Amino acid sequence: MNCPLCNSSDTVHLGARNVEHAHRDFYRCRFCDCIHVPEYQHPTGEEEIQRYATHNNQYENSRYREYLTKILQGAVQWMGSLDGCNVLDYGGGEEEVLARMLREQGVRADCWDPVYGHNTLESAPYHRIICCEAAEHFARPGNEFRRMKNLLRSGGLIYVVTRLSDTIDQPLTWWYINDSTHLVFYSCRSWEYIADSFGFTLLRCDSKSQILLQG
Ligand SMILES: [Zn+2]
Repeated sequence: MNCPLCNSSDTVHLGARNVEHAHRDFYRCRFCDCIHVPEYQHPTGEEEIQRYATHNNQYENSRYREYLTKILQGAVQWMGSLDGCNVLDYGGGEEEVLARMLREQGVRADCWDPVYGHNTLESAPYHRIICCEAAEHFARPGNEFRRMKNLLRSGGLIYVVTRLSDTIDQPLTWWYINDSTHLVFYSCRSWEYIADSFGFTLLRCDSKSQILLQG
């Protein structure tokens, strides 16, 4: 089972779990350290959209906006003020809520999420990319990081939020795997691999959920 991130064949089968009524095997790559579900077990595009519909990530949902306000606070803490920046929300979901919130603050922001037809990328290339709870859904992560690199200005920053496996001793009992659309789980070592392979510098990785790359 080759790794979807680095394509190494040196992967270890960690075991299997039933995730939302679907059988899922989990493998860990010995080279880049990502944990992943094999491609033949990935949900179809339709199943994926049905699952996302249960997230309730609408603009009208004030709890979701509160959550994104905290994400934006983290983004500003890690990247500095977004004033004057062109910002891309990478994988922003159906209603591109984060990009809308940024525009309300006067920041020029686009949303990339081809699942929902958000693919205009009007202000590319970007000074800043925010990728919040999207990287774990990547079926082919390498393609996504290559695209991000192409969309980012030289010296620009990418702030990623995804749960990291560094402090997880038992991946098969980790709550984060219990979502049939979560396909790949990274550690700080995986982000070192991503930085080295796709032309970024890894500036920070907090071992829990936040990563900062520079293009
Ligand atoms: Zn790998």
